[in-house]
Amino acid sequence: MSNLYNQAAELIKNSKKAVAFTGAGISVESGIPTFRGPNGLWSKYDPKILDIDYFTLNPKDAWEKIKEIFYDYMQNIKPNDAHYFLADLEKEKMLEAVITQNIDNLHQEAGSKNVIEFHGTAKNLVCMNCFKKYDKDVVDLNDLPPACPKCWGLLKPNFVFFKEPIPKKALEKSLELAQDCDLMLVIGTTGEIQPASQIPILAKENGAKIIEINIEPSNYTNTITDIFLQDKATVASKKLKEELKGAI
Ligand SMILES: [Zn+2]
Repeated sequence: MSNLYNQAAELIKNSKKAVAFTGAGISVESGIPTFRGPNGLWSKYDPKILDIDYFTLNPKDAWEKIKEIFYDYMQNIKPNDAHYFLADLEKEKMLEAVITQNIDNLHQEAGSKNVIEFHGTAKNLVCMNCFKKYDKDVVDLNDLPPACPKCWGLLKPNFVFFKEPIPKKALEKSLELAQDCDLMLVIGTTGEIQPASQIPILAKENGAKIIEINIEPSNYTNTITDIFLQDKATVASKKLKEELKGAI
């Protein structure tokens, strides 16, 4: 195992343009629940609350559940060692960017600067009428559904709902990074969510090496992964940091 970590550290040190691609698995250890699986959010809540049509027609009902899941509960969640590890790599110019499928803002809280939010963010709300954005902390979520102070349009979390397209800039930037990078660190994502799952495949097709960190083998493991580090994200980060000692 340590041999694999040593090889992974060498790849990181020798790469000219490394990019991280993260998913729910990196935030689980911060206490963010996953959506799928027996204890996932969808075992308790009906996924229709994140269906854009349902949300638009039933904003009060959808918002009551959305507030519980994404705003009350996640209020006190903090980044973990894996988030900080990526932020450290970026500071030392060993990582170009983080493309994340997560909407929890934890990469930025850990200090990462170049973060591409493939599915948007829960940190802001966007007006469905005039498209003005508001920080969640300036919106009163005790009176639901929240309305735009400027035009009274319905405010929606600024992340991607079912049936909504990927934000254009995030998509373009992600494709560009996937094509240009020479190393991709895939962390805590199993490659089941389309079209995000294509990002590491595109990187591989364009010549990048793939280091994968997951607790279980994924769709990537036996197809595009060069080095599979089977550990929790925080554990793998700690081991990689030790292998990189002196460098970060
Ligand atoms: Zn508005």
